[in-house]
Formats: sequence, C-alpha cells, structure tokens
Amino acid sequence: MYSRKTFEEIEEAETDVWSCTNEDCNGWMRDNFSFTDRPSCPLCQTEMQKEARVLPVVENATKKTVTG
Ligand SMILES: [Zn+2]
Repeated sequence: MYSRKTFEEIEEAETDVWSCTNEDCNGWMRDNFSFTDRPSCPLCQTEMQKEARVLPVVENATKKTVTG
C-alpha cells in the first residue's frame, strides 16, 4: 500500500471486477473495462470470475470536451 498523502478526498465505491482464478496471479480488471461477458486474464489468459471490490471511483466525466 502506498501511503502518499493526497490533497483530494478519494471517493470509494463497491465496484464489480473480474478477478483471475489463477492463485499465482493477481490479475483483475474492472467490469466496465471488460469487453466480453467472460473475459480472460490479460496477464495469464486464465478464466476470470466476477467479484465486488471497494475501489476508488474512476471519473469518466472529465473528458467530456472531446468532440465527435
Ligand atoms: Zn491471471
């Protein structure tokens, strides 16, 4: 764990993630970053299982200025 002080309060929320089922691997990804219903681990290609973790909230709203 990093104990660097932050100036902003980081909001945390329970988040759906995919976790690698390989005990020797710490791979995981956020559910909303996965592109399939059953993703495989990006590190070892093992099947992943869904679980909930408390993670800092990722703000997607900051790049709204991108025009289409
Ligand atoms: Zn893995």
